[in-house]
Amino acid sequence: MAAYIPDNYQPTSNLLKGKSILVTGAGDGIGRSAALSYASHGATVILLGRTLAKLETVYDEIEAARHPQPAIFESNLADLTPSQCTDLAGALATEFIQLDGVLHNASILGERQYIADAGYWQWMEVMQVNVNAQFLLTQHLLPLLQAAPSASIILTSSGVGRTGKARWGAYAVSKFATEGFMQVLASELRERSAIRVNSLNPGATNTAMRRAAYPDEKATDNPSPHSLMPTYLYLMGDDSLGVTGQAFDAQ
Ligand code: NDP
Repeated sequence: MAAYIPDNYQPTSNLLKGKSILVTGAGDGIGRSAALSYASHGATVILLGRTLAKLETVYDEIEAARHPQPAIFESNLADLTPSQCTDLAGALATEFIQLDGVLHNASILGERQYIADAGYWQWMEVMQVNVNAQFLLTQHLLPLLQAAPSASIILTSSGVGRTGKARWGAYAVSKFATEGFMQVLASELRERSAIRVNSLNPGATNTAMRRAAYPDEKATDNPSPHSLMPTYLYLMGDDSLGVTGQAFDAQ
């Protein structure tokens, strides 16, 4: 059963003060909104994404608002390697002594095909970006997360990652894998670490991905990424201390 944040949850303005948080896919959509929201609640945000210009725009917005100075890590997760993750972890270790959170948000939709018709390389790319990159990043960042008193890992799921649906192919399977990754990691860390690990299904949200998946829908009928931020803040901040291994819905 899905979990929800407490009714009428209101994050304090300094919820994330002093924390350093990595957001993947921070240049657009929900990731962009989360990066801005985390920064506005006091966090130093590490913006990871594949399109430098978009990351720079988010960076400039955070700087203009006089929030803590962010950092940019340009990376196409489709090509992510263990050695790039070692470089990222090394760069973060010199800049910060700990990492307080990771929002694994970047994903691709892939083709909306029957499994019988799915292309091999399309399938592999979706799995690489949506699943393998999460594993690689998490594994390499665990020492920095362990160094924080109470780190939070949020893995982004989807409704089709909890109930399978025709023609959602690799995307849906990747989100089931994300739920599995969350459960295994939460179980492994529960007894020997203060790191909490949860999954979060944002639900239908007005972003480029949703518009691509549902071209006939009126985009503005769906909530904006900004409206989901209480759940993203709750799970990232200390208000969710002790909450782990749960599958959240933002709507
Ligand atoms: P968007 O497509 O709007 O944004 C995705 C972000 O991820 C973009 O910044 C994109 O970069 C980045 N990204 C994609 N591929 C890569 C890659 N290979 N390497 C690095 N960065 C990459 O998606 P949403 O904001 O809608 O989705 C965010 C998350 O929420 C996803 O995990 C999605 O599956 C999930 N979700 C969304 C729903 C919705 O209705 N919107 C519903 C359920 C789940 P760039 O801008 O450069 O392309």
